[in-house]
Amino acid sequence: MEKKLHCPKCGSTDCTSHKKGYNRALGCLGFLFLNIFGLLLGCIGKNKLICQCNECGKKWTM
Ligand SMILES: [Zn+2]
Repeated sequence: MEKKLHCPKCGSTDCTSHKKGYNRALGCLGFLFLNIFGLLLGCIGKNKLICQCNECGKKWTM
């Protein structure tokens, strides 16, 4: 069972969240400058959760 999210702005618990995943744009940019090692840059922040409130539309990351 997932921990209940609540909006930091309005306090509503009607929120959705999803994993950010691999950052392709950052990975490509890293590849241009650092070749294969740059691809690892795309992994930065991939375990972050993006949350959005369904009440007020506030977005935040965890
Ligand atoms: Zn809200």
